[in-house]
Amino acid sequence: MYTVAYSYDPKIVNTRRLGTGREFNLSKRSNRYEYFRFKAGKLIEKLKQFLESHTFIAYLLAPKLAGKGTYLSLLKEVLGQDAFHHISVGDLVREFQNSYLKRQKEYDTYFDKHYRGYVPLQKAIEALLHPDVTSLKPTELILTLIKKKIDSLPRRTIFLDGFPRSEDQISYSLYFRDLINYREDPDLFVLIHVPLAVIDARIRGRRICPKCGASRHISLLPTEYVAYDKKHKEFYLMCDNPECDREKMVPKQGDDLGIKALLPRIKRDLKLQNLALKLHGVPHINLYNAVKVSEALNLVEEYEITPEYRYEITSRGEVKVSTTPWIIEESGEKYYSLLAPPVLLQLLVQLGEIFEL
Ligand SMILES: [Zn+2]
Repeated sequence: MYTVAYSYDPKIVNTRRLGTGREFNLSKRSNRYEYFRFKAGKLIEKLKQFLESHTFIAYLLAPKLAGKGTYLSLLKEVLGQDAFHHISVGDLVREFQNSYLKRQKEYDTYFDKHYRGYVPLQKAIEALLHPDVTSLKPTELILTLIKKKIDSLPRRTIFLDGFPRSEDQISYSLYFRDLINYREDPDLFVLIHVPLAVIDARIRGRRICPKCGASRHISLLPTEYVAYDKKHKEFYLMCDNPECDREKMVPKQGDDLGIKALLPRIKRDLKLQNLALKLHGVPHINLYNAVKVSEALNLVEEYEITPEYRYEITSRGEVKVSTTPWIIEESGEKYYSLLAPPVLLQLLVQLGEIFEL
């Protein structure tokens, strides 16, 4: 029986060993720059140099809402916007669905040459265009789309994010077997580990601006403007997008259920993570989002821990904001969740180890 319990490797999580004695405000870009230079300046220079003459393909394996997008944009911030390509399989499939009819000749020419699968090509195309009307999972066609994308890119490092929506483990391993060594440069897996309680809280506290669509979090990523609704006795955020009108931000429908609705999908994502670990010969990098409260301060520094924002009303009716380190509980254990920069350090250090920099 597969268990979803969270655990981590203290050695990987440890950022104190990279240098201590300075404090940084990691929500500020200029401070982040100094932070990365302080903790991993030499390594970052080596990685940048390495990427000028070498490439690799990294497969990101993580449950939904584990923060893939955040880590990748931070990686670009650190290594440069052009350091690698980010291919999202979900985006690729959507692009295909929206543009197949317009670019049919281009797609068909490529498919005729490169598609290999048990399902006849025409059937696979139909299934991918209309996923709602068929139970057929055109995994091999998605694989061909990914290869088409890879072929279209100049030879640069790729982070590939997402997988065909198939429940079937055999097609997953075939998928990897087929993709790995597709190019001659190294492949590697990047696995993001995160307590499910973190994902649950991220969903429950999510607030959306009904006008501009901005997404924030009531206690983890508030806007500049927090207000109090006397009638409902609750605090709320107002949008701080300068092009918007301080609209009251609201929960998305169903978000109050937390992780519940997503659980089947997340369990499947975790199963896939596990499966990937059994494929031999591909190095893997583990990223850990959280650390036990009891040993946190031996491994990381307080400013690297995600703060929780708390609000109260003063006697003059104003909203007072304070922060404390955010504590989450999973399987009876208390954890702190790390901000994205210390998790990114885990990635940089392990890349350095794999490529012997
Ligand atoms: Zn807005």
